[in-house]
Amino acid sequence: MEKDLKSKTLKELEELAAGFGQKDYIAGYIFSFIHVRAVKDIDSITTLSKSFRRQLTEEDYFISRLEPVDKLTDPDGTIKYVFGLPDGKRIESVLLFDDDRRTLCVSTQAGCSMGCVFCATGRLGLIRNLTAGEIVDQVNVIGAENKISNVVFMGMGEPMANYDEALKAVRILNHPKGKNIGIRHLTISTCGIPEGIERLADEDIRPRLAISLNAPTDAIRQKLMPITKKCPLDRLFSAIAFYQRKTHNRVTFEYVLIKGVNDTVLHARMLVKRLRGVLCNVNLIEYNPHSGCIWQPTENEAIERFAGVLKEAGFETTVRRKMGRTIKAACGQLGSKENLKCKN
Ligand code: SF4
Repeated sequence: MEKDLKSKTLKELEELAAGFGQKDYIAGYIFSFIHVRAVKDIDSITTLSKSFRRQLTEEDYFISRLEPVDKLTDPDGTIKYVFGLPDGKRIESVLLFDDDRRTLCVSTQAGCSMGCVFCATGRLGLIRNLTAGEIVDQVNVIGAENKISNVVFMGMGEPMANYDEALKAVRILNHPKGKNIGIRHLTISTCGIPEGIERLADEDIRPRLAISLNAPTDAIRQKLMPITKKCPLDRLFSAIAFYQRKTHNRVTFEYVLIKGVNDTVLHARMLVKRLRGVLCNVNLIEYNPHSGCIWQPTENEAIERFAGVLKEAGFETTVRRKMGRTIKAACGQLGSKENLKCKN
């Protein structure tokens, strides 16, 4: 995939063009023909000379393209897209509508090695990392029929476990010569890989950061998220503190509420204690059971009580209602084998 022009940032295309004796602006043509005009092959970049197009093709450069294989719409308007990858694997992306906002949730891996128990993708294990081109193309293909205002790297996979390609995708999507999606409209969501959070703090580009927390203590989090064994909450929060010292950016904590596991008033109070001093807001997410799971969703009243404790303590708190459940597009439901008719 090293020869895929869609996976290259503008800077990488400039280096490539220079290697062929071409000027920087030629790289700009390639970049915008791919990401704005959505050309399918090198020959369609008509502003390049015929000889340069031939040279690129002879050296095996190409433009990858995701194939949409299914599209499902929920009664609430949520749309789920299933894409086929060139090697026969499948991934999913979800488009969510909220007033004027159209948020696209993209995948960064096929499957995921993190094994969070509330997540269907985690049951697949890691199949493979996506390339930057495959991440970006979810936006390109879906963006051709819907204006997208926000992109969240929150679909299948752990973006920080595919850090280089995920960050390259951020750079490509953000660039003014391409999709030009504002950096504050791009969010990387992680289950909490501290090295990735610290690395992001040192980048010259700052997408929003969301952290899937889901528990106020290590003991509870270990039951839900195996990464906690390797990375206890103290380590995670020291990475967050480092990130905030460097960036002064607010982080979003995602918290899936599961009945009897992490959803009581006592848990909420422990969470308040844990979040004290962190510049943050909290999204409470209703749990969406998937086949084979043993947990139950929290009832509405308990959700409101939990949210009330956080709000009273001064934390901006939003309850994310279930979206796209009938098409298995809700949080934690992506990647079920029956959905993907998986060949894995
Ligand atoms: Fe992977 Fe995210 Fe699912 Fe955890 S929640 S298994 S990190 S996709």
